[in-house]
Amino acid sequence: MTDRYGATREELAAILAGLGEPRYRATQVHDALWVRRRPLEEATDLPRRLRDELRARLPTALTAVAERHGDGGATVKWLWRAADGAQLETVLMRYPNRATVCVSSQAGCAMGCTFCATGQAGFERHLSAGEICEQVLRAQHASPQRVGNVVYMGMGEPLANVEPVLESLSRLHADAGISARQLTVSTVGVVPGMEQLVRFALPVTLAVSLHAPDDDLRSELVPLDRRYPLADVIAAARAYAARKGRRCTFEYACIDGLNDAPAQADALARLLRGLRGGAHVNLIPLNPTGAFAGRASPPDRIAAFAQRLRALGVQVSVRRNRGVDIDAACGQLRAREARRPAGPGQVRARTRPSATMGA
Ligand code: SAH
Ligand code: SF4
Repeated sequence: MTDRYGATREELAAILAGLGEPRYRATQVHDALWVRRRPLEEATDLPRRLRDELRARLPTALTAVAERHGDGGATVKWLWRAADGAQLETVLMRYPNRATVCVSSQAGCAMGCTFCATGQAGFERHLSAGEICEQVLRAQHASPQRVGNVVYMGMGEPLANVEPVLESLSRLHADAGISARQLTVSTVGVVPGMEQLVRFALPVTLAVSLHAPDDDLRSELVPLDRRYPLADVIAAARAYAARKGRRCTFEYACIDGLNDAPAQADALARLLRGLRGGAHVNLIPLNPTGAFAGRASPPDRIAAFAQRLRALGVQVSVRRNRGVDIDAACGQLRAREARRPAGPGQVRARTRPSATMGA
């Protein structure tokens, strides 16, 4: 059966025609779901009988298992279960005038990055385009602010699930009206997927997770580096920036004493020289995870690393960790829920606001 956000505009029209509805209903239903972005139940311009029928014909794909509120209500995180039991996470980050949603592209991840909670737990399955879009629209239902940014930085490696991810980007752009530059795909460096993204019609923002300026260290943190070393990953990012005329972002998790030395900042700046539009480095203090012994670099070391990069012409931002108090980092909520003793299905926790803020 087609799920609610997996159905294309044409499929919606076919379902409604099958129910004997007039043609304008397809536009009404589409607008309620994607333009007004409200739950079907609230589309009161549709007859109640039709809403009931559509609830059965177009079920949602995801059921909330847990919902956590942090940062004084500005950050919400969901753990969802799909019909087959696969679990995935979504984070909503609300700002005064807009909101960002961080989506998962897979349940779990096969890439095995040593510092990442999702990588530590392994791969479950790919998500469909409908499951990816549903995360955005369900988060929108909980946000008075319009969701204007979507980042593919939740669970999974988007470019290991290319076709559904590209389809979800097209739908979020065309149906939900999110501009291409506000759609960010974060990759650990799957080079063939990056090459497909170069050929993709939309100039979405590309973020590449580096975490180290040389292959010796990077391959310890990111096993995929052995298959696609830094030179190939940076070459693919260069091709992307050149084709789209769009500056690329590079993510760098700062790990105390491991990748945060001044000489490593110099090497990183050298690596990123000459990219079209320049390079933007996003420094992320490491979020502690169970199976990784490293700790976050202290703030003064991150500031010094950032300063050194800036002096070498690299644009830098330091991500403040939002939602640390609700396990908002990639894969952490699922990992925690898996450790909980069996109990009531629905969990709703409110935690104290934290002083930190996010990307
Ligand atoms: N698989 C993609 C996108 C999901 S991860 C990728 O790796 O880019 C999103 C970002 O969170 C990546 O930059 C990833 O390296 C980072 N990340 C994962 N675990 C982290 C942790 N424990 N601390 C800080 N950043 C982390
Ligand atoms: Fe997968 Fe990204 Fe985590 Fe690596 S950092 S294991 S690619 S989700």
